[in-house]
Amino acid sequence: MLGLMSDFPLLLHRIIDHAAKFHGERKVITRSVEGPIVETNYAQIRARSLRVAQRLERDGIKLGDRVATLAWNTWRHLETWYGILGIGAIYHTVNPRLFPDQIIWIVNHAEDRMMFVDITFVPLLEKIADKLPSIEKYIVLTDAAHMPQTTLKNAVPYEEWLAEADGDFQWRQFDENTAAGMCYTSGTTGNPKGVLYSHRSNVLHSFIAGLPDSKNLASSDVCMPVVPLFHANGWSLAFSTPMVGATLVLPGAKMDGASIYELLDTYKVTFTAAVPTIWLMLLQDLEKTGAKLPHLKRVVIGGSACPRAMTKTFQENYGVEVVHAWGMTEMSPLGSLCTMKPEYAKLTGDARLDVQMKQGHPPFGVDMKITDDAGKELPWDGKTFGRLKVRGPAVAKGYYKVDSDAVFEEDGWFDTGDVATMDQYGYMQITDRAKDVIKSGGEWISTIDLENLAVGHPKVAEAAAIGVEHPKWDERPLLVIVLKKGETATREDILGFMQGKVAKWWMPDDVVFVDEIPHTATGKIQKMTLRKQFEGYRLPGVEAAE
Ligand code: ADP
Repeated sequence: MLGLMSDFPLLLHRIIDHAAKFHGERKVITRSVEGPIVETNYAQIRARSLRVAQRLERDGIKLGDRVATLAWNTWRHLETWYGILGIGAIYHTVNPRLFPDQIIWIVNHAEDRMMFVDITFVPLLEKIADKLPSIEKYIVLTDAAHMPQTTLKNAVPYEEWLAEADGDFQWRQFDENTAAGMCYTSGTTGNPKGVLYSHRSNVLHSFIAGLPDSKNLASSDVCMPVVPLFHANGWSLAFSTPMVGATLVLPGAKMDGASIYELLDTYKVTFTAAVPTIWLMLLQDLEKTGAKLPHLKRVVIGGSACPRAMTKTFQENYGVEVVHAWGMTEMSPLGSLCTMKPEYAKLTGDARLDVQMKQGHPPFGVDMKITDDAGKELPWDGKTFGRLKVRGPAVAKGYYKVDSDAVFEEDGWFDTGDVATMDQYGYMQITDRAKDVIKSGGEWISTIDLENLAVGHPKVAEAAAIGVEHPKWDERPLLVIVLKKGETATREDILGFMQGKVAKWWMPDDVVFVDEIPHTATGKIQKMTLRKQFEGYRLPGVEAAE
């Protein structure tokens, strides 16, 4: 027997309809790429998204077509998402920080038909446009007054293009399983892989993301997604924020500490989210200026492990609660968040920080397990680590135009490529990426743990641990350090600080100081590049190979 409930397909444009109807006046504030602050609201965003949809159809864009965006977080970018998906086309966010060759590869693989682009990225595109044959037209996200001279094919300023539609338009209706969005993983090894979100998966994920033990968003929040829309589906913030009718603050192109602080303070932001490198810049700026964060309540930190020192500083110096989160592009992206269950709620000080180093527990909608290489489930004792596998309605079951991939298992589980522990209360902690973990004498050393510890040293800005070849142990840890500006330290200072805080055999064999650690386009430490850079590095005590 079937239930007798309404047929209400989970289509994403219903989210902006809801926001416009019930939170229509709620502000959407952007630091525009052109410079000035621009204020609009959900009612206007919806009205203009409808015009985007109408205008796209006039350009011949139809169900299933891919439309790329190469853009910062702005109100215009948000409008393009809803306009594209509202006709059953697919927003394809391209990460401008990728190498040009990767952008070419991704756009060609996705066969994008049009591209919305910020003025910032026009020069970058002009250099590669002749290698992007599928793109018929470029819409530059600005008005006529700021339109740059460009050689891009059929380039028009967004505002002029949009003015040609009157908005007398209805969203198209289609099955909720229709594709809505696309995002390629960075592909640190091999080619990038396209993840294809559906309307249904994104709507469900948006519910999941807003739950109290997730991002706990409400209409009373002022939410600033610093994480770009082009990073892993924008961490769902383009959907979960309007879904609850929270005020939205969009930082545009300026992500330095001072600019982020200015928005946090001026607009009394209560909730924000980004990768640790962004918060490193903000905290350094605050340290310099002595400014405080009286309005900010919660910051979600993920994408890479959040260092203990960062959590401690936010919480103890600024009274801001850190919610450590883990996820993947393939998971829409949220997988787990470290909010306090009653079992841990009473903990304070170091014991609380210990828990907050974990990436947390999954909300309903994400199932999770750890297994050995043979697929056997491992115990939840907080110590045993294994392959982390997940499944759920917002977890990918395949990559775009890839026939099969071993990471998608037959019974619906996705092998994340991460190695993790689970504790008795279901809190997961990432030990490492399987390919980054240091294999010393058959045992594993977590690079994340070593890095976390090293950045606790007051003079250290950033740390990366990598495995270096060793004749006896296969690999031993080398610690690569960037010191805070103007600071000096020696190998012995750093090792002395770490001594006794990790197992003896985990201690790095050597420490090197560098000016900069390479990062991926999404702010992760580029371990592959570092390993290459230090290939053949001779650790102390190791004889030179004859
Ligand atoms: P990209 O490489 O494009 O940034 P993802 O955002 O999908 O791709 O990267 C997902 C991976 O990032 C995870 O599999 C995990 O290794 C890492 N990651 C994400 N969040 C965390 C976290 N809080 N702690 C440690 N690693 C994390």
